[in-house]
Amino acid sequence: MAVEGVKMDHVLEITTSLKPYVDLRFLTAGEDFIIETDLNKELIKSFSYKPDQVTTHKLTRNIDGALEYELIKLPTEKKYRYISGELQTTLNQALFDHGLEPSVTAVVTNILECVVNFRSDARKGDKYKVFIEENYFDGKKLKGGTVLNASFSGRRSGYKAAYLYTDPEKNSAFNAHYTKQGDALINAGLRMPVDRVHVTSPYGYRIHPITRKRTFHYGVDYKGRTGDPVYAVAAGTVVSSGYDGLSGNKIVIRHSDRTQTYYLHLNRILVNKGQKVKARQRIATIGNTGRSTGPHLHFGIKDPKGKWANPMVKRMIATQKLEGERYARFLNQISDIDNMIAEHLANERKLTQYTLFHLGSDKFCFPETYSKPN
Ligand SMILES: [Zn+2]
Repeated sequence: MAVEGVKMDHVLEITTSLKPYVDLRFLTAGEDFIIETDLNKELIKSFSYKPDQVTTHKLTRNIDGALEYELIKLPTEKKYRYISGELQTTLNQALFDHGLEPSVTAVVTNILECVVNFRSDARKGDKYKVFIEENYFDGKKLKGGTVLNASFSGRRSGYKAAYLYTDPEKNSAFNAHYTKQGDALINAGLRMPVDRVHVTSPYGYRIHPITRKRTFHYGVDYKGRTGDPVYAVAAGTVVSSGYDGLSGNKIVIRHSDRTQTYYLHLNRILVNKGQKVKARQRIATIGNTGRSTGPHLHFGIKDPKGKWANPMVKRMIATQKLEGERYARFLNQISDIDNMIAEHLANERKLTQYTLFHLGSDKFCFPETYSKPN
């Protein structure tokens, strides 16, 4: 993090003080923050950063001389939104027609594509329902929304539903959508670790370019230029980040189903051990470090049992099944969500009746009983 006009040691002090509390990875260029210093601009008095309208991350110099962290959250109002309809063309189109944001549409599509095979089992006229929690501040909706439930009911597919599970631990890998039985949904397909796909060496036996011996190649080599971005192929946690003579600069990421992905010969590493990463997050740049004959990314996958797998074949990563205490909690959450939906629909019905009452004074609705008040 380099900031124009701000001293490097100030930047360092701020980032170090924020690190335990704020996910600095999501700081993007163009976001504003305020730094208050003493008159000589030597000492930071306070720092505040607002990632959205309602959240402020604030650091204030306390009497002990340390920068103390405070999270300020303005109160927001939760509102619920229920969407239902019949499939006419594609699910994506249907959700778009409801005015759902692309980020929320992606979540709903992801969920339903996990429980229904749209290519073979979806038919025109099949019904979908989605229940979303949205946050409002000052009467305006904030970006995004949380999909609490999505279901699909089709002639061929039958009834399929998924609910959101919320773990007491905020960053738990279990926070995801599941079927009522607690079965994991398969996450979206793995993303590509590079922008330009030019495989110079696939997975399998090959003559090693340096040793000239027939050896097994436990990954895929993507040719690139030094400095080209390398992305995490799925969300996960960085379990290793460092250098060794063979692999060069290397990152290992563990994903929710215990699959691990390996990124070797990197030029720059942009993540630390223990850090959580999102799918398609930039984690490094392509390099030529370690035993390598030119700038490329060696990308490898180990399956949950720790065996190397062919990255060209592996497509999905699953979340774990909910069991025991978690499953019991999930069942309670399902019934809470179902109750919220029922309540929401009852309220909507009241509103509808209210509207009908108004329509009732229209002469086209009740021609027999209608008498215009004077
Ligand atoms: Zn390789």
